[in-house]
Amino acid sequence: MRLGIDLGGTKIAAVALDRDGTELARHRRPTPRGYDATLDALAETVAVLNPAGTRGVGISLPGVVDSAAGRVRAVNLPWLEGRPFADDAARRIGRPVRIANDANCFTLSEATDGAAAKGRGTADAPVVFGIILGTGVGGGIVIDGRILPGANGLAGEWGHAPLPWREEADGPPVPCGCGKLGCLETMLCGAGLTRLHRHLTGETLDPPEIATRALAGDAAAAGTLARHADALARALAPVLNLLDPDMVVVGGGLSALPGLCEAVTRRWGAWTLASQPRTRMAVARHGAESGMRGAARLWPD
Ligand SMILES: [Zn+2]
Repeated sequence: MRLGIDLGGTKIAAVALDRDGTELARHRRPTPRGYDATLDALAETVAVLNPAGTRGVGISLPGVVDSAAGRVRAVNLPWLEGRPFADDAARRIGRPVRIANDANCFTLSEATDGAAAKGRGTADAPVVFGIILGTGVGGGIVIDGRILPGANGLAGEWGHAPLPWREEADGPPVPCGCGKLGCLETMLCGAGLTRLHRHLTGETLDPPEIATRALAGDAAAAGTLARHADALARALAPVLNLLDPDMVVVGGGLSALPGLCEAVTRRWGAWTLASQPRTRMAVARHGAESGMRGAARLWPD
């Protein structure tokens, strides 16, 4: 049995999985404010699920995880900054702990028994690039079933590169939360899609409304989605050239945009060195559960 915890800014979600990935139990509670309260909440979560026979606990969180130093930096969990979180969590929980970035856990989950796994209608994918398109844009890399963490814990952090081959139709570059201008996150996240639609049409709509209108045959909404897909294809092209993944798995709220994967894979060959990349792209299988499921996979059986 494995235990994974998704530690988010508003909620803690945990799952116990058996050897083949079947869910045995789950637990959910709000994330308290403050360092000690968070450690207590994690310990109580583990006690509720009472995972007999687990070797350790995996924790997914939205931020940069410096495994070498055992420290994390998470905008939504500012009280973790600079604290020896991995050691303190292990001590409070009473079990060894492994911590990874949420996009890395997402990618691990999808590579193990999700959209990029054997038996899911796709061939086995040795190199998987996972992307999350939601309120922000994150990414992770899994190679042969293992997360590539990187020397700085940054591998796969693709959202804070400039949007490549920007055109007038993309709108002007806007400031990003990271302090830079024109990061592809600002274009591809939910607020970016709303901004793009306003740039192209003058109308302010949220992403689900844009999707609904596009499905109903609204040409302006469909045009916005096509432009967004084109920007995503341009943003992924350098990843294909650099990493050349077998599979790209997309999760987050915007993965529900109609026809997203088909639109992107139709376009990305215009921007990569291979004119017809064999790389496949699919929507995540486990959705919002992939953080805790991937965290559980941080430990072997
Ligand atoms: Zn940025």
